Amino acid sequence: MRRSERWREVPPTAGLPARWRDWWPFGARAPLQPDGVVDAQLECSGTACLVVALTALAQQSHRREVIVPAYTCPLVPLAIAHCGLRVRLCDTRTGGFDLDDDALRALCNEETLAIVPTHLGGRVADVAAARAAANAVGAAVIEDAAQAWGATHGDEPVGLAGDAGFFSLAVGKGITLYEGGVLVARDPAVRARLRTASATAIRSRPAMEIRRLLELAGYTLAYRPLGLRWVYGWPHRRALARGDWVDAVGDRFSPDLPLHGVSRWRRRIGERAAVRWPAYAARLQAQARQRIPRLEAIPGVQVLKDRPGANGTWPFLIALLPSQAVRNAALAALATMPLGVTRLFVHALPDYDYLRPYLDATAAVPHARDFAARTLTISNSPWLDDAAFGQVLARLRAALQPGSDTASSKA
Ligand SMILES: *Cc1c(COP(=O)(O)O)cnc(C)c1O
Repeated sequence: MRRSERWREVPPTAGLPARWRDWWPFGARAPLQPDGVVDAQLECSGTACLVVALTALAQQSHRREVIVPAYTCPLVPLAIAHCGLRVRLCDTRTGGFDLDDDALRALCNEETLAIVPTHLGGRVADVAAARAAANAVGAAVIEDAAQAWGATHGDEPVGLAGDAGFFSLAVGKGITLYEGGVLVARDPAVRARLRTASATAIRSRPAMEIRRLLELAGYTLAYRPLGLRWVYGWPHRRALARGDWVDAVGDRFSPDLPLHGVSRWRRRIGERAAVRWPAYAARLQAQARQRIPRLEAIPGVQVLKDRPGANGTWPFLIALLPSQAVRNAALAALATMPLGVTRLFVHALPDYDYLRPYLDATAAVPHARDFAARTLTISNSPWLDDAAFGQVLARLRAALQPGSDTASSKA
């Protein structure tokens, strides 16, 4: 190990690195919307996009229930509760995060306002199945593409197959404004309603904007292999040392959702960074294509990929292991290393204590729990170079084949 490498930290996701020149007011810009989207609406977070979309739907309907996958971001049920709507948890399909067809059918009724199929980790969800279930009861579909900026299905960007869709520009989700969200809809009439809903639900808060600009400056300063040690690595390992996985992955959120405007300056910074996205995304895709077979060459490791016709993005790889015990052994060998191996959401939604007031914690969601228990994520950041990726492979192999020659390379 070279001296400098001891201090390098691989981020858990391949966020687009920021540049100070993005803060300069002149120069090339690209609109903050994935290719193929028009008239996207910039909001202060992905959560804010969901609040705006639900507000628009609820203004037009007496229905009050929103169906979400039981394995997703805890901010999703908090956004639904914020709108005064009821969260209905749908179990996922075995070994994945798509909505289970039988569970979905059982939950859909004349109270269903919307179904929220979710593209996790850049993988493209089965929106068509959700749309069919929604159509059968007259409900809407909101695509949660928070983690799938730039993913496509057929020749169309994700986010447009339902009534509305949204992307997150939070730290670690690709292009970032530190916090931000992009709300999209295919139908111009829906886009007009989303703008009206935003005008009622969202207010300008200059103090929040100043805070976000400072945070974005901090990101620009620290999002590099040495800086990440301070802002990500050490806090992450301290939380793991306490055994607090929820804090370690940043899964604890306040129900008091920040809702505010985004300044022109911050938008411009994102538009300057967005120019670099296509080349960066291509590089991530090439790296993922090269690494997935090497991971799957380890018996027992399955990496989530896309169905035919879908073309996702690659912020990190989601590995599904044979059992929770094996997954935990792999994490024991890898999670405290600065190699970008961690978990996505720690629990299925009913298993977060702090979410109890906002959902049915007794919901039977065995597949979602199994998915939470058997998965880990491997960063697809270019800073996980081939040597470091080799260390990930060796430690995974050791965890899956205890007693093999690499089993001695313990943490
Ligand atoms: C991050 C995330 C959100 C919320 O987006 P923010 O921009 O952080 O508010 C919603 N859904 C999923 C699946 C997410 O990963």
